Amino acid sequence: MKRAQAALRLKRGRETARTHPWIFKGDVADVSEVEPGSAVTVIDSAGHFVGRGLYNPRPALCCRIFTWTDEPLDVAFFRRRLESAVALRSRDRAQGPSALCRLVWSEADGLPGLVVDRYGPVLVIQCLTLGMVRARRTITTALTDMFSGTLAFDMDEEASARLEGFSAALGWARGSGPRSVRVNEGGVAFEVTIGVGHKTGSYLDQRENRARTGVLARGRDVLDAFSYTAGFACHALHGGARRAVCIESSPEAIAGARQNLALNGFTAQAEIRAANAFDELRGLERTGARFGVIVLDPPPFARSRSALDAAARGYKEINLRALRLLERGGSLMTFSCSHHVSEALFEEICRDAAADAGVRLRVVDRLTQSSDHPVLLTVPETRYLKGLLLEAL
Ligand code: SAH
Repeated sequence: MKRAQAALRLKRGRETARTHPWIFKGDVADVSEVEPGSAVTVIDSAGHFVGRGLYNPRPALCCRIFTWTDEPLDVAFFRRRLESAVALRSRDRAQGPSALCRLVWSEADGLPGLVVDRYGPVLVIQCLTLGMVRARRTITTALTDMFSGTLAFDMDEEASARLEGFSAALGWARGSGPRSVRVNEGGVAFEVTIGVGHKTGSYLDQRENRARTGVLARGRDVLDAFSYTAGFACHALHGGARRAVCIESSPEAIAGARQNLALNGFTAQAEIRAANAFDELRGLERTGARFGVIVLDPPPFARSRSALDAAARGYKEINLRALRLLERGGSLMTFSCSHHVSEALFEEICRDAAADAGVRLRVVDRLTQSSDHPVLLTVPETRYLKGLLLEAL
């Protein structure tokens, strides 16, 4: 990529662009003729340099700033950014980043639109913007140089591809690799089918929280609601839980859950209920079931600000139901991954649910995403996973 000549001028007063990488169409005064997905220099209304980013006229979020230094977005730039992302995951680890981790996380690593997850010998690469699609070859080459012997698999998201106007890649970047890989997450084995499933194949953001259930669950009955491939249930059983019940509605996720439970020798202690969790939580209540540990990890109920009221009702409903199933002294691990639901709002919803259930709860801990999904103070969207570890008094 050549040094950008094209310029995007911000409207007067659009100062957030000095610390936040997102520029929306409404922030732009004018922009020179530029090929979609290529670099632009962002200037303020007085013509002073603000930063440099990749521009796409199609989506409302039309430009993401990559640097606030006057430097070209060239091959060397991308390599430096990838190296510092990897260095962050290597802190306090002489052997380098874990074999199971998020290596690159978009804005939080100064590479907006790029996600790279490592599953043992396979790097799954996800481009979320047209600009990043254009840089894909540079990225793949740099990563396979840095991790020699690893294979790269492209797995873009359909929704972002539609929004940004590119065709979503799904397949090996070069040559071919295994259909699935077996990874070890803190002593628990998981089978990840490459190119299949949610996110890049698994929810790496819940790794640290899953490990925690192992500690809480010893000798208890565990409910893993919205279980996906039974990650929390497997950790609970690994930690000595008596039995686990998973609730999940997607047939593919249920197949993955069966496989993971079997892989760890937990089939006899686990039950998977293929159901809508809203109905199943009520159903369990009717049968008088009780659990010592309950995990609620639903999909984002609020995908937009306008959906916030309905989302709040959804979160309240499942938390209320779960609290009615929770034993005294038991633990509820409850999450929201909706960007639009703030930590304060989530806490308020849980408080309402506790009031309706007539339960007093101790906040044992506030939970968030795994530390390889870093948070930028000036980019609040980077802290999307909110959770509470509550204990029934
Ligand atoms: N806890 C999991 C991730 C959960 S993601 C882990 O650690 O890996 C949320 C899951 O909820 C998805 O697998 C999705 O298929 C499932 N889901 C969404 N809506 C549901 C519903 N109404 N009832 C049951 N499962 C649902």
